Amino acid sequence: MIPLHEAQDAVLAGCQPLAPQLVAYHEMTGRVLAQDIVAPEDVPPFSNTAVDGYAVRSIDAHTTPVELRVVDTLAAGAEPKIAVGEHEAIRIMTGAPLPAGADAVVMVEDTQRVGETHVSILRAANVHDGIRDAGSDVRAGETVFVSGTVLNAAGIGVLASVNARTVRAFPRARVALLSTGDELVVDGSPLRIGQIRESNLTMLHSMIADTGCDVINLGVVRDDEAELERVLRDVTQRCDAIVTSGGVSMGDFDVVKAVLSKIATMNWMQMAIKPAKPFAFGQLTSTDGRVIPIFGLPGNPVSSLISYELLARPALRKMMGHQHQLLRPAIRAVLDTPLKRKQDGKIHFMRVFGEFGADGRLHVRDTGPQGSHQLASTAMANGLACVPDGQGLSEGAEVDVYLLG
Ligand code: AMP
Ligand code: MG
Repeated sequence: MIPLHEAQDAVLAGCQPLAPQLVAYHEMTGRVLAQDIVAPEDVPPFSNTAVDGYAVRSIDAHTTPVELRVVDTLAAGAEPKIAVGEHEAIRIMTGAPLPAGADAVVMVEDTQRVGETHVSILRAANVHDGIRDAGSDVRAGETVFVSGTVLNAAGIGVLASVNARTVRAFPRARVALLSTGDELVVDGSPLRIGQIRESNLTMLHSMIADTGCDVINLGVVRDDEAELERVLRDVTQRCDAIVTSGGVSMGDFDVVKAVLSKIATMNWMQMAIKPAKPFAFGQLTSTDGRVIPIFGLPGNPVSSLISYELLARPALRKMMGHQHQLLRPAIRAVLDTPLKRKQDGKIHFMRVFGEFGADGRLHVRDTGPQGSHQLASTAMANGLACVPDGQGLSEGAEVDVYLLG
């Protein structure tokens, strides 16, 4: 058995960032920039009003109330045609350019209309009141994002506001996914003895998509070496990575093991963790000469999930240009229930549900049975507690918890 971090290092070393491509700004959700973004123009592009109100010369409105003559109305998008003169005001709407002469905007709530032609200013105005300056969000020439930044929704909005319509970014990895096992039923038909319903495909599809990848779901492949080899070779032309479920442990019909040993360079690992001891990582060369990483996950659903989380997800993130937080964040939590385990030389990843308490700390409790086939207790979990070798931890003890989503 090897320690988990050794397996993680080997997997990460075997996966390289994909070549950046040009991406339309509106397709940047969750993607990583592969260039710096320098703003070509000021945002906002001109000084404008932050409020609906009246543009005035503050000198005319230092002492209030005072009546000013309204000489024009400016909507957002309108171009000012005349300046504000002595004892004059211009009715103005949020976002409209500040007219010449004005140095303050009084919000409409602090005014009262007097007939058709005048307005009474009820609250004294100071220079710059109600005005947002050109470039006060982003200055022309400013580097708004550096290469490696992961754009959130606001970031994509900023790309639009600085007119960065096409940017260099790391692509979404195209991940081929397949499940193996003659016992697996996918089509909803009644189960014969020995058959079970397939669950990993749907689960892993969801996890891979959540990682930000495009999934090529190949479905269940029978435990047939020739068939599996054909499917794998065929998909290399249109994918960047392959995730398989099942067939990587010590069983007699572990066809994934047989086929991958033949067509790929593989590293068959036994990791000192539970669940998810067996894990396979390898590289396959596509017909067009690209190196395609392969993640061979064990078939037991919880083992599949945990090895995806701990090994495949970080590697796929690296391929998509992520440089930080490849692993889920871990946080030190307090146990509200004991976590019992046996000493076996492994780290146990135990399913827990956590909530922040009034003390500001994360409190976790186990979500039920911890067998590697018991997916239901995993569904209730929002964290994986990392329980070191030994007899387990008692209530009140501290434990590191990986936060799942
Ligand atoms: P394997 O890794 O192929 O030896 O499978 C280990 C266990 O996981 C067996 O009990 C399988 O029936 C079960 N299993 C394998 N693949 C799946 C799957 N896709 N969905 C649900 N259970 C599975
Ligand atoms: Mg199997």
